[in-house]
Amino acid sequence: MLGFDTFYNNRAGDDVLKQLCLKEHRVLLTKDVALHKSMPVGGSRLVEAIYPRRQLEDIVAAFQLQGFALPPRCSLCNGELAQIDKALIKDLVPPYVFRTQTIFQRCQSCQKIYWPGTHLDKINLFIENIRKVSG
Ligand SMILES: [Zn+2]
Repeated sequence: MLGFDTFYNNRAGDDVLKQLCLKEHRVLLTKDVALHKSMPVGGSRLVEAIYPRRQLEDIVAAFQLQGFALPPRCSLCNGELAQIDKALIKDLVPPYVFRTQTIFQRCQSCQKIYWPGTHLDKINLFIENIRKVSG
């Protein structure tokens, strides 16, 4: 949601996650103490907070990400969003949405359509709150 390139798979085994992090230079975020300790120094961060909101605040603070949030990415697949002409999505959104909205974005990977007033506004509000708390 903050625009950072992330990978999530709660079915991948420890070895798969470790290899992926090393290969793609990713930092592993985990609540698994043993997995965290098995990673190279700096290659992982133990997530200790219970609630997702607090977890995100901790991560943003720990990696000093406050000023680096980018436009939101797709909440389904992590793809980048791009503006799309309204005329091109007429049959892809509910009629009421098409009548009342003017700005649309589409995920470049899975093609999911986003528009203000729903998902994007919630994400942007969430990001603003995170910035206030963490900044
Ligand atoms: Zn997507």
